[in-house]
Amino acid sequence: MTDANTRTTSRTDGGTEGSTDEERATIYYEADADASSIAEKTVAVLGYGSQGHAHAQNLNESGVNVIVGLREGSSSRSAAEDDGLAVRTPAEAVADAEIVSMLVPDTVQPAVYEAIRDGLEAGNTLQFAHGFNIHYGQIRPPEDVDVTMIAPKSPGHLVRRNYENREGTPGLLAIYQDYTGEAKAEALAYAQAIGCARAGVVETTFGEETETDLFGEQAVLCGGIAELIKAGYETLVDAGYSPEMAYFECLNEMKLIVDLMYEGGIGEMYDSVSDTAEYGGLTRGNVVVDDHARENMEAVLEEVQTGTFAREWITENQANRPTYRQLREREKAHEIEAVGERLRGLFAWADEESETAEESEAVRESEDENEDESEREEVRA
Ligand code: NAD
Ligand code: MG
Repeated sequence: MTDANTRTTSRTDGGTEGSTDEERATIYYEADADASSIAEKTVAVLGYGSQGHAHAQNLNESGVNVIVGLREGSSSRSAAEDDGLAVRTPAEAVADAEIVSMLVPDTVQPAVYEAIRDGLEAGNTLQFAHGFNIHYGQIRPPEDVDVTMIAPKSPGHLVRRNYENREGTPGLLAIYQDYTGEAKAEALAYAQAIGCARAGVVETTFGEETETDLFGEQAVLCGGIAELIKAGYETLVDAGYSPEMAYFECLNEMKLIVDLMYEGGIGEMYDSVSDTAEYGGLTRGNVVVDDHARENMEAVLEEVQTGTFAREWITENQANRPTYRQLREREKAHEIEAVGERLRGLFAWADEESETAEESEAVRESEDENEDESEREEVRA
């Protein structure tokens, strides 16, 4: 499956070797983008969820012609119309567009692609915000279109808010197929029009973006951190400490630590904590995340690289997600969730955070046909 990585790019995909100066990624900014590459064109934005609503409105306000593509009866239609945008069915939108921005959930993209593929003309562009379906061969575009990716590194409501505040959102750029020879220029113009070039656009490949994204969310961000928190919590509670103390120590304080690392790296975090915390962390952290944990990470990465994980997830979706639903219920039933809900209800600090959550909930235009996808703003980890 990984052979599908690169048709036109020279960088190796999902490379495991440490990066050298030569391998350092190229970053593009506004000066590298030429708005005229996109100015006369029409973009069909398929989907009006987290990314769709932000791309469509930002493109529109940047002077690009936009048609939003949504099914008849889609609950997102009125939202797009209220925002002053033209709305058609996906097939109609694609028929009138030169650039197709595929912003429906990854799991429904293959079906939406089947519905619009006949409207793709030679020289058109099929654009993505995540590489999964191209990289794992779930969408196989014709050879006479450009296939590109502009992937903002943040949820859509921030892409929109940053644009309105004249700020940028960092993004990724990848070219999978360059039929016209203009793919990169056009992708950079698109990145500029949605505000990403203001902050910087990092060049990557579909393979690298997909594999690092899946690995990161599995091993470190979503899966890794949730298991680390639960294991720490259970270790304390099993040793007789109170669930409240265990919750504060292992979950609540995580945010303070992550905020420090986000602002100034691991060094700033260690500078800010006590010397005792620093020494304890430096001597004991790798006792927990030891060579065995690293070997497990390599195994997880291998399943991503070989396509084993992708096949499992595709099959799971085809079977209407039995395992996913079951695991989700089990996760919700963990004691730490009940303890957290009770504590967050008792303390004032929780107000601020729930406002942020409500805000992203409110921005999200959900559709009910996919219960799993519509529950909350899906943040690309
Ligand atoms: P989303 O779930 O927020 O929205 C998808 C929209 O697609 C819905 O609102 C609806 O308008 C439409 N839709 C839903 N089901 C449909 C169906 N069955 N048929 C037709 N249309 C349907 O999606 P999203 O999170 O914006 O993701 C879109 C793309 O952007 C994905 O490739 C995703 O990986 C990528 N991405 C997402 C984020 C993020 O933070 N959400 C960040 C970067 C990239
Ligand atoms: Mg990610």
